[in-house]
Amino acid sequence: MKIRVLGCSGGIGGENRTTALLVDDDVLIDCGTGVGELPLQSLVRIDHVLLTHTHLDHVAMLPMLLDTVADLRQGPVRVYGLPESLEALRRHVFNWQMWPDFTVLPEADNPGLLLLPLQPGENLQLGTRRIRLVPALHTVPATGYCLDAGGEALVFTGDTVDNPALRRALEAISELRYLLIEAALPDSSLALAQSAGHLTPSGLFALLEALTVRPEVFVTHLKPGHVREITAQLASARLPQTLRSLARDQVFVLNTAS
Ligand SMILES: [Zn+2]
Ligand SMILES: [Zn+2]
Repeated sequence: MKIRVLGCSGGIGGENRTTALLVDDDVLIDCGTGVGELPLQSLVRIDHVLLTHTHLDHVAMLPMLLDTVADLRQGPVRVYGLPESLEALRRHVFNWQMWPDFTVLPEADNPGLLLLPLQPGENLQLGTRRIRLVPALHTVPATGYCLDAGGEALVFTGDTVDNPALRRALEAISELRYLLIEAALPDSSLALAQSAGHLTPSGLFALLEALTVRPEVFVTHLKPGHVREITAQLASARLPQTLRSLARDQVFVLNTAS
């Protein structure tokens, strides 16, 4: 299984693109502005989109993706997320005011979009790829995802603060190789981070120190105006592992069980 980072910034401007991961060539985790970089033939191949939550930096490209590929594909694009997330998309995006309702377009019995709710604790099997929900705690209902194909696993937390359920879930993944986790704001913005449901480097250190599993950690969602400060704080970590910033176009390959 191959995971390519299309966007991992907490904002836009210059080379920054917001959150999206491409799994092989047919699955997206989140649909931020990084998706807009894919060529048309790659967009058409997207069959599944898994959403961590509904904030715009994670769903901004979804309406335009559907509109772009609707008449170029055979079947619908399957969009998965927590029930609350999908309900928010129905009410606030695919409501004919913000965007047409692709759950009934181009035809009600041949829609371009299927909204498929996932429950916490649920497993989703896409071919050989297993995707499990990982608890996240944010200002809106949110989830992370654990990806594996029977061997090594990668966890992408999405937007979250530290929480006991996330720690327990990470501890339970013995084959965890990569952890992609956020630190959106520097410690100097702790109050803002807490009200916005984001981690700062110190919060991330506390979470990692509490774990007995030792994945390779890549930090995502840095706010563009604070990259230098956050990066310096990450470099000061006294942890067994080095913390690296996630980079656009970075690729992770997960080994399957031999
Ligand atoms: Zn968010
Ligand atoms: Zn976000």
